[in-house]
Amino acid sequence: MDRTGDRCPICGEGVLEKTVLEENFEYKGQSLTVPDYIVYNCPNCDEDIVDKNTSRDTEKIIRDFHRKTDGLLTSKEIRKIRKSFGFTQVAMGELLGGGEKSFARYENGQITQSKAMDNLLRVLDADPSILDIITGHSQKEMEQKATEGMIYKLPRSTTPYKISRDAMTNRYDFSFGDYHIVRVEFRKNQNFDSSLEQIEINPAIAIDSEQEKKIVRVYIAVDINDKEMPFSLGITGEGIFTFKEPVNPGKSLDGIVNINCAAIMFPFIRESIADLTRKAGYPPLLLPPMNFVNLYNESKKKKTSDTPTADNKTKK
Ligand SMILES: [Zn+2]
Repeated sequence: MDRTGDRCPICGEGVLEKTVLEENFEYKGQSLTVPDYIVYNCPNCDEDIVDKNTSRDTEKIIRDFHRKTDGLLTSKEIRKIRKSFGFTQVAMGELLGGGEKSFARYENGQITQSKAMDNLLRVLDADPSILDIITGHSQKEMEQKATEGMIYKLPRSTTPYKISRDAMTNRYDFSFGDYHIVRVEFRKNQNFDSSLEQIEINPAIAIDSEQEKKIVRVYIAVDINDKEMPFSLGITGEGIFTFKEPVNPGKSLDGIVNINCAAIMFPFIRESIADLTRKAGYPPLLLPPMNFVNLYNESKKKKTSDTPTADNKTKK
């Protein structure tokens, strides 16, 4: 990449020399200084040729500078909002209507979001429950597009909660290493009553984990198994999380696994299910975001009420 010593492409005579400058940019009365601005200067014609990496990095910096000046969210802020909902870039773009590549482009500084998209993101950030309105609507839209005329009715009590990734990793110091699918089952139901137009779906979600010192493997299984359904489906994803310190089993790890790890992994599983149903010739089934805090609290309640054996023993 270093062009020092190359012949100048402008005059064809000078030999390029690397120079590190501070470059100033102006926009609407505001100014921005970019340090470490690398150019290759020709001593013969005094032309500056901007380094390729510098030019690419500066484009991103300038885009965010323009966004800030225009009162728009920066690429970092957009990424933070998207991640707080646990969506991939593709899923977020499809859901909010920018197209599947839009969020990759907003976040890497290739394009600036519209004022309308900016407003939508701010509203969602302030009140995450609004996402319910959008997912409900986009589900309907997908169903209308589908040829089957089949409508999925999904549970509605799934208002997502927001996870602050920074707060989370500071508190527990762990990182998400890898994700794999470890089980997929899919079967068409030959006896499905195709006159049914609305199918109620209640996916069963089970979360499990295994730990070996600093590594915790988290398994999320989603199963849809109902005789009335056009298909039965089962999928298990494995996420590998590495902790800085060896983890002690117990309540706090239980919470991390069931809430934080599950929320990080869920978008991957959601995408696999949408893909699987689409490829099987059904309208893509897009599970709504899950509130893993509620799910965890409910499962804890169930566990305490499911274990009356201890009570029985003491009564005897
Ligand atoms: Zn030259």
